[in-house]
Parts: sequence; C-alpha cells; structure tokens
Amino acid sequence: MNLKNTQARSAIYDFLIRSSSPVDVNQIIGFLRSKKLNTNKVTIYRNLDTLCKNGLLEKLEFGEGKFRYEFKKNHHHHLICTNCGKIEDVSGEYLSEIERKIKSENGFLIKSHVLEFYGLCRNCRS
Ligand SMILES: [Zn+2]
Ligand SMILES: [Zn+2]
Repeated sequence: MNLKNTQARSAIYDFLIRSSSPVDVNQIIGFLRSKKLNTNKVTIYRNLDTLCKNGLLEKLEFGEGKFRYEFKKNHHHHLICTNCGKIEDVSGEYLSEIERKIKSENGFLIKSHVLEFYGLCRNCRS
C-alpha cells in the first residue's frame, strides 16, 4: 500500500519512539518495508524534516557521512563504538557542572553544546 504523507509521518515517528538508539534513513526504510508500507526516500526525508522542525525529532551527525534521527528526550549525549558502530545514550548531567564553571571563569553563558564520545563498547572491549 502506498503511504500518504501523514501515515508515513506517524509510522516513522512510532519507529523512532521505539528505537533505543538513533536510526538512519535506511533503517527507517527497512522498518516501513517490513510493515509492507511502501514509500520513497523523498517522502521520508520530507517527513523527517517536518518532525525535526516541529521539535519532535533531533537530527544527529556522528561523522559517518550520514544523518541519524532520534525522538527528542531529555538532554543527553552518545557513546559511539568505533569498532561495531553501536550508539548508546548517556546522561547529560555531568555537563552542568562544567557549564557552571565556564560561566564563572570565562563569563560565557552557554546555551547549548554538542558532545559525543568515541571509543569501544562493552562487547568490543572483551
Ligand atoms: Zn562495539
Ligand atoms: Zn540519544
């Protein structure tokens, strides 16, 4: 069946809510196909843009040469395994202390930051 824009959008959003780590467009296409929902890349990108603009999704880039998307939740960071590519969420709480320090020492008010950690995950270390 061919998806209307709004159907594609809610299917994409459902998939992202259930994903435990940020997904790329190919994973989204794979999910829609597995549900026998046919759509094309243009429709998917258009819907991802709309969801990002509405503040429902976040667009992320981990130096892979492609974007990933995850649904917007509490501020957090990512652990990216350079061996297997696994991406895990990690709490952003540690950073507030650093931001306070920078504010008092540099007089700089931080409004946002981007921080990702690259290394080896638990599986790849053993
Ligand atoms: Zn790994
Ligand atoms: Zn995340």
